[in-house]
Amino acid sequence: MNRFPTTRLLEIQARVEALTESKIAPMAQRVDRECIWPAHSMQALADEGLLGLNVAENLGGLGQGLLGLSVVTETIGRVCPSSALCFGMHSVATAVIAAKATRYQEDQYLRPIARGEHITTLALAEQGSGAHFWLPETSLAANDGHYRVNGAKQFVTNGGHADSYVISTLASEETSELGDFSCLVVDRDTAGMTWLEAWQGFGMRGNSSRGVRFDDACVPRGNLLGQEGDQVWYVFEVVAPYFLMAMAGTYLGIAQSAVDLASNHLRSRGYSHSGETLAGVEALQTCFAEMWVTAEKCRGLVREAATRGDLGQPDALPFLLACKADAADTAVKLANDAMTLCGGQAYRENSRVAQILRDARAGHVMSPTTNILKSWTGRALLGLPLL
Ligand SMILES: Cc1cc2nc3c(=O)[nH]c(=O)nc-3n(C[C@H](O)[C@H](O)[C@H](O)COP(=O)(O)OP(=O)(O)OC[C@H]3O[C@@H](n4cnc5c(N)ncnc54)[C@H](O)[C@@H]3O)c2cc1C
Repeated sequence: MNRFPTTRLLEIQARVEALTESKIAPMAQRVDRECIWPAHSMQALADEGLLGLNVAENLGGLGQGLLGLSVVTETIGRVCPSSALCFGMHSVATAVIAAKATRYQEDQYLRPIARGEHITTLALAEQGSGAHFWLPETSLAANDGHYRVNGAKQFVTNGGHADSYVISTLASEETSELGDFSCLVVDRDTAGMTWLEAWQGFGMRGNSSRGVRFDDACVPRGNLLGQEGDQVWYVFEVVAPYFLMAMAGTYLGIAQSAVDLASNHLRSRGYSHSGETLAGVEALQTCFAEMWVTAEKCRGLVREAATRGDLGQPDALPFLLACKADAADTAVKLANDAMTLCGGQAYRENSRVAQILRDARAGHVMSPTTNILKSWTGRALLGLPLL
């Protein structure tokens, strides 16, 4: 099995590396310090045609799947984790729209996304069900040609900046049960939609994670994705794999930047009393080697999961579930290790290592959270249903 990027994907990766270096890296510290939503990153990605990474080629996109998404988010996450998160949530929502898109949805959303003219994002989480994102309480009522949406979402990445929001609601039928939900695309500026106060995160400070309320928001019926009550299919076939790979890539990128920062510090920090650098200290060589091996093992798991997912292999599920949890564990561990290896320079307020340590911590609480994923991985391997 080929677990490595294809020539086409390597070419896309090289383009992303060039633009992260020239357009995203110079602003990365300001994004964190001033909680700036990274419009410059999304524009640079749009200009390179990358907003359509997961849009089919016949609609003008790049036709990439899970592997492409994990490679691109890793590349951006290595430099600016907030930008990777914003791009990742756009790509997950794009995949949800694309999964069963009607002709109207192709023209209204997917083609503009591929042209770099439209940003979308995913809004599933609610205060009432917290990490259990598959249990929305937002309601949907059908009345001639429209739906009325009532409820609230929390922590919406790209909140207030995206052009559309993929939301989950209860199915409108009275017979629907808890857990039966539908997905809809809601356009920005829809009447009845109110943004709540900006949320100031401990890390991922540029992602503009905000709450939004829907008070009788009126959404055309044509914006329903798939059929009412399509929840199980969307959650496990599209949302989960794309979200898990977007996040696994982002947190792997953070882990890699911890390795990069440690490497730079060990090579450059010299002592006047001996004239040696830290790179010459055996104990630190061992620590650094362990960091590198941990990052490479995680990358192997992420690539394996993405490849199995793209091939639709029946045993892909535990790989997909495990890799986001492993990437979050790896990012936190390696950012912590870098904090030790880089000494006092790292342990200053808002150093780059401090920033990635804060960013890495978001990996554990973004749902499916690390706790939930580890339990689901065990259940999948033991032949038990996930829920
Ligand atoms: C930076 C960031 C960006 C986000 N972006 C988005 C977004 O774009 N769209 C979106 O929809 N959501 C987003 N979220 C929301 C996220 O996915 C979670 O829904 C949210 O973080 C859960 O927060 P909570 O306080 O309600 O958690 P709680 O539900 O209160 O959970 C607290 C802890 O309890 C654990 N826990 C709860 N139940 C179980 C269980 N059964 N088994 C094991 N452990 C359990 C959880 O793992 C978690 O660690 C974002 C969150 C963050 C932090």
